[in-house]
Amino acid sequence: MPIIGIINQKGGVGKTTSAVNLAAALAAHRRILLVDLDPQANASSGLGIRSAQRTIYDVLVGDSPARQAVHDTAESNLKILPASADLAGAAVELDASAESLRLLSKALIGIRPNFDFIVLDAPPSLGALTLNALVAADLLIIPLQAEYYALEGIANMMETIERIRGSYNPQLQVLGILLTMFDGRTKLSQEVEQNVRKHFGGRVFEVVIPRNVRLAEAPSYGQPIYHYAPASQGAVAYRRLAEEVLQRVSQT
Ligand code: ADP
Ligand code: MG
Repeated sequence: MPIIGIINQKGGVGKTTSAVNLAAALAAHRRILLVDLDPQANASSGLGIRSAQRTIYDVLVGDSPARQAVHDTAESNLKILPASADLAGAAVELDASAESLRLLSKALIGIRPNFDFIVLDAPPSLGALTLNALVAADLLIIPLQAEYYALEGIANMMETIERIRGSYNPQLQVLGILLTMFDGRTKLSQEVEQNVRKHFGGRVFEVVIPRNVRLAEAPSYGQPIYHYAPASQGAVAYRRLAEEVLQRVSQT
């Protein structure tokens, strides 16, 4: 029952799109919880949750049990622990103490047995919320946008991952690096892919997520791609990612 963190401190690289659609694809076979850790709450609104009575803020900063903040979505087998704008406050309120960094990990213990996978959508920073995700996760997926600066900041993030592994979470492993927003017509995308595969070898997922406008449109309807455009290239790609994830998880 692994917890998979979708991590990259850069914004706009496809974390939320990947978290929502991987979670939805996995929900075809397994019981999934998606945890929205970003104050922008894009994963929550992308699954049709725009105002929730209890959110991850109440779980981390208040003392609501996580199960009280878990909401149903329109997809069967897919539940969400939503975020809200007040989570931005939590990023400030939480200090760097061991206790603060373990809040998410502890909060999820009680509900873990109810799910086959928990997917964490991390915010674009290396602050307290992302650190909580790194402490709570067993496995990480790192989306990289197929553009010139894809690797910028990666060394820094890998160091943070190593630090958390060394101190709080020795089990933590990178399950895979995911190329997103790939445009096969451009030489740039192809060069970035070659470069990333040279650099990270077998850690890069075979499937590459194409740039696909349907993936960008679906959140405004509050739907994952399987609901909004099930035959789109984006839907096919995230389904293949789910298969690769299941295969890799069975080998870990
Ligand atoms: P992050 O969570 O890393 O900030 P998002 O998943 O929100 O990134 O993606 C940033 C923007 O790019 C969003 O507007 C999203 O709809 C769009 N986007 C993400 N992946 C794709 C894709 N494969 N094709 C087209 N647009 C995409
Ligand atoms: Mg996001």
